[in-house]
Amino acid sequence: MHNIKQQDLIKTSSFINGSWLKSQHSSIAFDVVNPANLLCLTKVHDAQATDAENAIEAASRSFPTWTKLTAYQRADHLVAWAKLISQHEDDLARLLTLEQGKPLSEALAEIRYGISYLHWFSEEGKRIYGDTIPALSPQQRILVTKQAVGVATAITPWNFPNAMLLRKAAAALAAGCTFVVKPASETPLSALALAYLAEQADLPQGSFNVVVGTDAKAIGEVLTKHPKVNKFSFTGSTETGKKLIAQCAEGVKKVSMELGGNAPFIVFDSADIDQAITGLISNKFRNAGQTCVCANRIYVQQNILDTFTKKLTQSLTTLKTGNGFDQTTNISPLISSKAVDKVRHLVNNAQQQGATIEFQGDLHFDNKTGNKSDCFYPATLLSGVSQQMEIAKTEIFGPVISLISFNNEDELIEQANATDAGLAAYFYSQNINQIWRVSEALQYGMVGINESALSNAAAPFGGVKGSGNGREGSHYGLDDYLEIKYLCFGGID
Ligand code: NAP
Repeated sequence: MHNIKQQDLIKTSSFINGSWLKSQHSSIAFDVVNPANLLCLTKVHDAQATDAENAIEAASRSFPTWTKLTAYQRADHLVAWAKLISQHEDDLARLLTLEQGKPLSEALAEIRYGISYLHWFSEEGKRIYGDTIPALSPQQRILVTKQAVGVATAITPWNFPNAMLLRKAAAALAAGCTFVVKPASETPLSALALAYLAEQADLPQGSFNVVVGTDAKAIGEVLTKHPKVNKFSFTGSTETGKKLIAQCAEGVKKVSMELGGNAPFIVFDSADIDQAITGLISNKFRNAGQTCVCANRIYVQQNILDTFTKKLTQSLTTLKTGNGFDQTTNISPLISSKAVDKVRHLVNNAQQQGATIEFQGDLHFDNKTGNKSDCFYPATLLSGVSQQMEIAKTEIFGPVISLISFNNEDELIEQANATDAGLAAYFYSQNINQIWRVSEALQYGMVGINESALSNAAAPFGGVKGSGNGREGSHYGLDDYLEIKYLCFGGID
């Protein structure tokens, strides 16, 4: 990891109660691997369930002090942290590309996106307003206040190892909660670097804790069931999310879930086709297709299908697959060879069922940088996909575009909604009546209309149906970390 200038950012053990876990478990460590070349970047101490318990105890001890700070004092802490992250953005981006693979420009964009949540929630924390309500009796007054729920725990995924953590931590800390997070084992270094900068920013001891460990099941049990945990937040697969909801149910914890998607991307015949193709390419190939809001099923109206396919194929020829540190790379490696196997299986299965590969890019392996990894998959365009195929029912999480044709709007809406997922949907149309009809008919938490980049700190991010509940970002994002308290004053003359 020689290309990290500030080597102190590279931390290899959990950050609990303001200290770095010492090597009482030094014999237990796991490898962090660069998916672009499969080389081990470093070993990280493998925290155990007892370490998660210690982190929760620390967060619980820290809570009364942290929550009694004014929103302005908490904001000062968050802004100090944001400033340090910003000062180290280049190193943090490099660390992210090393462990996750994404192109360096995308990694830098993720760091800045993560910082935006610290700034956003440091301000929103100052606007946690209550209410007064006209009472039914002249002797009573009714007030409503909002208070931090207490200790908040979280589990985050590998596809946005910096921003998913900050999106949760910023809201939790601004609301007055203390926080314990377990990042994904593939990408612990970004989370630990954030902990190092939290320490440098003097966040109070125990207010922010990071537990890195590969026994996700055991650590997850603690984070969801410990009696001192009041709220749990998860971003990851729907399958894991369902298990964690069940675990939280035992203690009736407050829960929010950002789970998998299966986004329809719809192009109507009134659309600006070039605009739709530009939007599709930037959405689909970001992070090599490994985002939960990635276009997954591309519905194109039959009468523009040929034109759309020709233009899209032409655009795909310019995309390059390669190492994220190569500035010409558009499509970086997937997180693991297992992820590539899944994508390959979906494409093969679709072909067997009658779909056609219209285009497939080259892998551009670079012998000089040793990109011999089996984590790469090239940009692929499949035509003739149908709603019944496995690839249309599954979140692909790879750089594959599946084209499905449709004839009319009613049929299209039925198909677009025929999934358990409900995170993001996109459509392109220049017909204002159609824009209103389709926006209202799509059963999704977020809808992009002639737009394929949805997420920012000011907007509520989240899904419906199997894609989860709760919202992150925006002023709604604080609600998940707050309790409403009703105060009834009586006996007033
Ligand atoms: P995953 O297996 O659910 O892993 C995500 C996190 O959950 C990791 O930290 C993992 O830890 C942990 N985990 C796994 N099994 C667990 C268990 N039994 N108990 C407690 N924690 C457990 O998901 P993935 O396959 O890595 O990630 C891709 C999925 O996440 C996709 O479906 C994607 O759509 C979804 N996602 C959703 C959003 C969103 O905002 N809605 C954002 C990103 C990703 P280990 O790494 O240690 O196993």
